[in-house]
Amino acid sequence: MPRPIEALIHSAALAGNLARARAAAPDAKVWAVVKANAYGHGIERVYEALRGADGFALLDLAEAERIRALGWRGPVLLLEGCFEPRDLELCSRLDLWHAVHCDAQIDWLAVHKTHKPHRVFLKMNSGMNRLGFTPAAYRAAWARLNALPQVDEISLMTHFSDADGLRGIAHQLAAFEAAVQDLPGERSLANSAAILRHATAGDGRAAVHHDWVRAGILVYGSAPDFPEHDIAHWALRPAMTLRSRLIGVQPLERGDAVGYGSSFTAPGPMRIGIVACGYADGYPRHAASGTPVLVDGVRTRTVGRVSMDMLAVDLTALPQAGLGSEVTLWGQGPGGSRLAIDDVAQAAATIGYELMCALAQRVPVRLVV
Ligand SMILES: *Cc1c(COP(=O)(O)O)cnc(C)c1O
Repeated sequence: MPRPIEALIHSAALAGNLARARAAAPDAKVWAVVKANAYGHGIERVYEALRGADGFALLDLAEAERIRALGWRGPVLLLEGCFEPRDLELCSRLDLWHAVHCDAQIDWLAVHKTHKPHRVFLKMNSGMNRLGFTPAAYRAAWARLNALPQVDEISLMTHFSDADGLRGIAHQLAAFEAAVQDLPGERSLANSAAILRHATAGDGRAAVHHDWVRAGILVYGSAPDFPEHDIAHWALRPAMTLRSRLIGVQPLERGDAVGYGSSFTAPGPMRIGIVACGYADGYPRHAASGTPVLVDGVRTRTVGRVSMDMLAVDLTALPQAGLGSEVTLWGQGPGGSRLAIDDVAQAAATIGYELMCALAQRVPVRLVV
């Protein structure tokens, strides 16, 4: 028998979460963001469930090829654009739309030979200081692109640094609006946090949503602004479950230690279970003792340090649990139980994004409804 660990990808949850993005931004077209192999879920696995999107956004050219190989003929956007001049050939061949965030990318376009002009998304650095033209340089970049025969439509794009937090988006929105003013072209600004948190603007057409929203993490069932809000608040469902079973049970006396470094010591008699899941499966090693976990659908906690292939859970309040009991590390458990990936991520001082992207190669993955 193989080791009992597996990951499940829930297609109904993916489709339902995508519908949430649509409902929150009813007048916008929706990019399903599938970079990083669909946030660790697998592009080929999520494809059917997310076909209802208006386009797929990603940044790896090999991933763009995979989307086209699946038969997708609609829009595909390279969020970081081209990395070198010859990438433009693939853009021409596969009809990929691409971000343009720096002068070099315009230089490459200017000498690119293509039969069909490209659709580009001109990126503004409105304050995040990662990629893009500053507001002051933006119109000149637009004019340069607009003069190129290689370029068809120019769309306008920026990205928020604080859509999930206190600082918010107003300062970046103001910088963007001031710089683009009367420029023609579709606009794309909102990531998951902006889609959900900045949803209403009176006239029904939220200023931050505009023409295209970019739905990433929400599609996969993690709250972009956890812990302020959780997935239940946003009516999202986990799209990934990581589950395993108990392969050992240990009764402990007061003073007995658990795992490497003896970092946990039993305060009294207790019973623990050993789970076939460790950091080599993608479970975070930094998950503190006390991280939530479900055993047979009932919430309990980890005890001690996570090892490479195993971790320990507290069974003291779960007398029925034993060898073979189902353990949900995150996602959907038996009997409608749920453990949000965000709860686990928080206990490991990280975010849901990182955990789902880090699901290890050795974990078998199954697509389910
Ligand atoms: C990853 C990414 C997104 C999606 O962000 P989420 O927070 O996952 O919704 C949107 N836009 C750009 C440019 C990105 O790189």
